[in-house]
Amino acid sequence: MGTVETQSRDLQATTIVIVGGGPGGYEAALVARRLGAEVVVVERRGLGGAAVLTDVVPSKTLIATADWMTIAERAAELGISLPTGDVPGTSHGVARPVVDLRVVNERVRSLAQAQSQDIRTRLEREGVRVLDGTGRVESASRVVVAGSDGAETVVDCDAVLVATGATPRELEAARPDGRRILTWTQLYDLDVLPEKLIVVGSGVTGAEFAGAYNALGVPVVLVSSRDRVLPNEDADAAAVIEEVFRDRGMELVPRSRAVAAQVVGAGDDEHVEVTLADGRVLTGSHVLMAVGSIPNTAGMGLEEAGVVLSESGHVQVDRVSRTTVRGIYAAGDCTGTFPLASVAAQQGRIAMSHVLGDTVVPIRLRTVAANIFTTPEIATVGYSEVALQAQKSKYSVTMLPLARNARAKMLGMRHGFVKLFFHPDAGVVLGGVVVAPRASELIFPITLAVQHRLTVDDVAEAFTIYPSLTGSIGEVARMGHHRRLD
Ligand SMILES: Cc1cc2nc3c(=O)[nH]c(=O)nc-3n(C[C@H](O)[C@H](O)[C@H](O)COP(=O)(O)OP(=O)(O)OC[C@H]3O[C@@H](n4cnc5c(N)ncnc54)[C@H](O)[C@@H]3O)c2cc1C
Repeated sequence: MGTVETQSRDLQATTIVIVGGGPGGYEAALVARRLGAEVVVVERRGLGGAAVLTDVVPSKTLIATADWMTIAERAAELGISLPTGDVPGTSHGVARPVVDLRVVNERVRSLAQAQSQDIRTRLEREGVRVLDGTGRVESASRVVVAGSDGAETVVDCDAVLVATGATPRELEAARPDGRRILTWTQLYDLDVLPEKLIVVGSGVTGAEFAGAYNALGVPVVLVSSRDRVLPNEDADAAAVIEEVFRDRGMELVPRSRAVAAQVVGAGDDEHVEVTLADGRVLTGSHVLMAVGSIPNTAGMGLEEAGVVLSESGHVQVDRVSRTTVRGIYAAGDCTGTFPLASVAAQQGRIAMSHVLGDTVVPIRLRTVAANIFTTPEIATVGYSEVALQAQKSKYSVTMLPLARNARAKMLGMRHGFVKLFFHPDAGVVLGGVVVAPRASELIFPITLAVQHRLTVDDVAEAFTIYPSLTGSIGEVARMGHHRRLD
């Protein structure tokens, strides 16, 4: 047992302790400071959280390289030939760019570290106190922080925000070894491209990494327990991604549950074997286990303090981030609300507004915009078709393939579409899907429409640039106008 130091709180100011320095935690800290509170952020690993250190920033940085590779593949079609022979920057006789994974991953790691440091600097500049260590919540007025040296610091406070995030789920019979059996957090330690990568799990994380590694030139096998990849996404969008994956030579193994993974052989013959529930065995050089996440809520005193967790271990919160204990709030992936950095940050900000008496607008998940960073990307906002059907809502759909868009043709894009869901009588835009390169940028006009309850006519009346991909958004809205006249 280490030493115990007690930090008395300043009775004049409200003191907030935030456990976890990811987007749920650090965004809340900034808001709380602006609202005049004393703020302590407790973080055990690095500011920015998993979002910055292992999840969002690293994966999107890797995908940036993969994007360039897919653009380069279209070079010949656009009249560009890549030099062959002894030209700096190319391998002898190679007409296709090649990837040096060591350089890619060094860039990934240094970008993530720099971002984490930027966040620390910003928080400290704003007067937030950062405590490096592991937090345990005793009550809404007391958090105990264990430092790496075992010393404990007791921090008294007026309210606590739990923003501890989540960790990759591991299967008993497929324990990651960090060398060949990997979680997504371990991919960035690879120096050499895998000879053959098996990706277990075809949800967002599995699909993004399968697509990225495939684009980097790695043969990829994608194992899905369901009928198709991205089973929880818009069916038309998932179908496009499946087609693109197949076209690019990826092997898809649907309706197959992986039950075990092990490293076999030695030396040059060392490889992994992934056993499926039906007894089939897949072999590859590496396997990425992308089978979901578990919340970081165990062993931190929450239940003892009276905070109700769900069966999956997530903290139960309402729309203003309150838990079942007055003065203890929670935000982000530990709540299981919507595993997105943007939602985590919003939940954290809302919690601080609530506890510090600022105007509070409860979170509206209906207007969340989300993106899957495959090539092409899939961006969605508002109601999905599945949700509209489930709640038996009246809705109409208009959809336009990007292949008909003049700008898309010029850019050599073949795959993708724009789709709108709207109320057939009122014309109000209920949701939308964009499948396109940089769909994450293109979705914004539809997000505005959903957020502000604009009609398809409102969208159709706005100018779009000619030629532009957003022209297709104006066009599907116009199709909606005519559909309503039919
Ligand atoms: C591969 C991948 C890619 C993703 N890409 C995107 C994307 O492109 N866009 C997007 O919006 N979302 C993305 N996400 C989701 C996003 O990463 C999460 O939604 C986001 O990180 C949640 O933020 P958070 O603050 O809840 O948790 P985290 O970012 O996980 O931060 C929690 C922090 O709490 C710390 N902590 C935990 N327990 C304790 C404790 N007891 N004491 C002290 N500190 C503690 C952890 O060390 C961690 O730093 C991705 C997820 C994955 C897995």
